[in-house]
Amino acid sequence: MNYSRFLTATSIARKPSPIRATADIMVKAPKSLISLAPGSPNPNMFPFKTATFTVENGNTIHFEKDTIKRALQYSPSYGIPELLSWLKQLQIKLHNPPTVHYPPTQGQMDICITSGCQDGLCKVFEMLINPGDIILINEPLYPGALYAIKPLSSNIINVPSDEYGIIPEALKKILSQWKPEDSKDPTKNTPKLLYTIPNGNNPTGYSMTGDRKKEIYELARKYDFLIIEDDPYYFLQFNKPWVPTFLSMDVDGRVIRADTFSKILSSGLRVGFMTGPKSLIERIVLHTQVSSLHACTLSQLMISQLLYQWGQDGFLAHVDRVTDFYRDQRNAILAAADKWLSGLAEWHAPKAGLFLWIKVKGISNTQLLIEEKAIEKEAFQRLAQLIKESL
Ligand code: PMP
Repeated sequence: MNYSRFLTATSIARKPSPIRATADIMVKAPKSLISLAPGSPNPNMFPFKTATFTVENGNTIHFEKDTIKRALQYSPSYGIPELLSWLKQLQIKLHNPPTVHYPPTQGQMDICITSGCQDGLCKVFEMLINPGDIILINEPLYPGALYAIKPLSSNIINVPSDEYGIIPEALKKILSQWKPEDSKDPTKNTPKLLYTIPNGNNPTGYSMTGDRKKEIYELARKYDFLIIEDDPYYFLQFNKPWVPTFLSMDVDGRVIRADTFSKILSSGLRVGFMTGPKSLIERIVLHTQVSSLHACTLSQLMISQLLYQWGQDGFLAHVDRVTDFYRDQRNAILAAADKWLSGLAEWHAPKAGLFLWIKVKGISNTQLLIEEKAIEKEAFQRLAQLIKESL
């Protein structure tokens, strides 16, 4: 694939920061070599000397003095090497994208670590969206994406969807205003990308079926657009086997996938990872080189040491425990909705994630109902409870 037609002028203009390039070289350099270029502080002056984290099964992660020095120091913009290689193996196990075996210049799968996947997504949007570009989404859309995309493009097309995700027929109809060969003609302004949250969509809780993904991927091939697969709730699918991902179908190298540890390990550690064709992942990293420099080294080391301690099986067993918890939560909220809202509202049982989308019958905008009435009611209930407790 030729990615140049997808890139914005800003992204094309990005060049490696010489200081960051040195940081990448230093990873492989002998320990005795000290680079004076990046302004690295002397870690002996850091006040933190060791750290121990207790993990839920009673195991610990201990950072002795050399590790803590590394954890508190600058690190490569791509991410720390051992976490990158662990994640690469994980992506191969879970998605086995055809692109793993491609040459680097022809869409080979690559990974970079970002400060949560939000950071990665924001960089992807800046890399790909010029003013006026046509972007396909499905509403209601996660505000973190919508408000990142909106300032960049005035041409956002909403593709109709239902509880099984984007409706391929509806997408076909939208795309039929172009001919497939139009994508080769810049004056035709064909859709550049589809952004979608395939599992446990934020905010609808809906999940896309594997069959729909296949159809949509074929449309992406036909009309030559990229797919941004934002999948923070992938690990929180309530049924097995997990639905195949767009990444797993990516024979062309047209999928950029966003993953995160936020929902399964910690959201505050701010560690996510982007997987996609090398030429595009490199551009995300060029952006990181001049923005955050890298995701927090301490967080990456904490996660990396935990993952090496667990191994892939231990990690997936943890994911199962987390999913069991959220499945119970999902069942509890569905039972409450059944009990209190039957006949008053409609909803679909989520197959993944944290969200339940409730449509209240006869009220098109529930904002005031929630912001005023519901909060007021809760306030009075709480007050009554506090009065009773103090009696
Ligand atoms: N995408 C979606 C759909 C989300 O729901 C969220 C978090 N709520 C994010 C991205 C951002 O996640 P992270 O914490 O990894 O930045």
